[in-house]
Amino acid sequence: MRVAVISDIHGNLHALEASIAVLEDEQPDAIWCLGDLVGYGPRPNECCARVAALADVCLIGNHDLGVLEQISLEEFSHEAAESAHWTREVLEDSARSYMSGLTPGAEIPEASAELYHASPRDPVWEYVLDAGSMRAALEDTVQPLILVGHSHVPLWAILHEGQLQAAHAPEGTELKLSEGRVLINPGSIGQPRDGDPRAAFAVLDLAGQHASFHRVEYDIERTQEEIREVGLPEPLAERLAHGV
Ligand code: ZN
Repeated sequence: MRVAVISDIHGNLHALEASIAVLEDEQPDAIWCLGDLVGYGPRPNECCARVAALADVCLIGNHDLGVLEQISLEEFSHEAAESAHWTREVLEDSARSYMSGLTPGAEIPEASAELYHASPRDPVWEYVLDAGSMRAALEDTVQPLILVGHSHVPLWAILHEGQLQAAHAPEGTELKLSEGRVLINPGSIGQPRDGDPRAAFAVLDLAGQHASFHRVEYDIERTQEEIREVGLPEPLAERLAHGV
């Protein structure tokens, strides 16, 4: 079974479409999405519709929950809160009802995987970026493969006999899944934050016990123009060019 893992689309339709075009060549057996379909970006409804049609599994993220008024926007940055308010106003019923049926965590026993938007101990908010949170994510879970999103930074960690190995996962990173229990963040489709502005996703070959990390160029300027057209904060457009 080959699975494409996408996350943190954030209303960036052009990043999503470019990624889907590349994924279709990969012909995965399933697509899993780790949440944050909306927030920050200018095309929330279209992103929800695309993911609803394509993803076999989809989680809900903190931005989605904020837009649905299921969590408060108090912990959001100013720009995140402003974009959540805007998204609430334009969100169509179909997108609202799709997201309302999602959860921030899921277990896929047939794939020996657990999926969380953020982390196992806090599926909505915790950023898994340092060794302590990676170790906790692997120690708090039971399945061999743990997938998280939320930080927008592609990375992997392996826990084997108490030893943790971990690294950033730039384009072209290849990883064996058989060397311990594995944590993977595929990076973000719609707002990468590792200095590479290209859309990020991962492909898992579960039979072959192998993962690969991919980047896809997309029309960043088009998304930036749409952000400006709808009046979202300018820094949300600016950051896309730099992948921060
Ligand atoms: Zn996000």
